[in-house]
Amino acid sequence: MPEMPEVETVRRGLIDLVKNKTISSIEMRYPAIINGDKKEFSDILVGAKIIDIRRRAKFLIFDFDNNYSMLSHLRMEGKYQVRDNVEDFDKHVHIIFKFSDGDMLGYRDVRKFGRMQLFKTDEIFNSKSLTKLGPEPLSTEFTFDNIYPRIIKRKKSIKAVLLDQNVISGLGNIYVDEVLWMSKIHPETIANKLTKADIQNIIKASNEEIKKAIEAGGTTIRSYVDSKGNSGTFQFGLNAYDQEGNPCKRCGTTIEKIKVSGRGTHFCPNCQKVVE
Ligand SMILES: [Zn+2]
Repeated sequence: MPEMPEVETVRRGLIDLVKNKTISSIEMRYPAIINGDKKEFSDILVGAKIIDIRRRAKFLIFDFDNNYSMLSHLRMEGKYQVRDNVEDFDKHVHIIFKFSDGDMLGYRDVRKFGRMQLFKTDEIFNSKSLTKLGPEPLSTEFTFDNIYPRIIKRKKSIKAVLLDQNVISGLGNIYVDEVLWMSKIHPETIANKLTKADIQNIIKASNEEIKKAIEAGGTTIRSYVDSKGNSGTFQFGLNAYDQEGNPCKRCGTTIEKIKVSGRGTHFCPNCQKVVE
């Protein structure tokens, strides 16, 4: 599943390729990707120009010059591709935005879980998908005063709490393992047992991890490739995730893999001890 840094990498790549392009037609090979009325979607977007692409957590927001915006969630495997020949899109490309200059933006999604939906631009942040999201790393809302109360009242494992996008958004399985390793916190620690210093460490580590991952272009775990065909390089910087059997880079103890709330979880049993 693409994590937030990969979606940010996609955004940065796509903006260069499609900004200021005007949609001349939309081919819907699998219309169910689009939420809501398909004809209205097409009527509103044909003739509209892409003026920006923003991101919130793992959502992309395509802004058009007619005061409409398209919310796009890639879910498990969604990808965007820019081509100038429709033959270059394979059978997994379900929606094709054709531009007036001959370029095309295709949405490819083997599992067909991704969704797109149109909103008025000034109403998009009131949409159900976005209002419930917690603050995300590197944003101005990602402060101790905002994050501490969201974590400290939870009676679930810190791993489960950090994965909950309504508490903090933008941290998926890879980065939660990395953040907890950096913060020296056992993933099964119940969130309400954490100290203020622990939560300060989580905030600091989250910012650092996400910044590092975005700078590196996202991870290539699951052979991730961005819209230009470049693959990410952050896999080499992982300290905990996917490292089971390898020595901890801090203390040399073997990294272990366990299941926490149903997710594969990697940690150092020496650096990250459970708080009773
Ligand atoms: Zn260690």
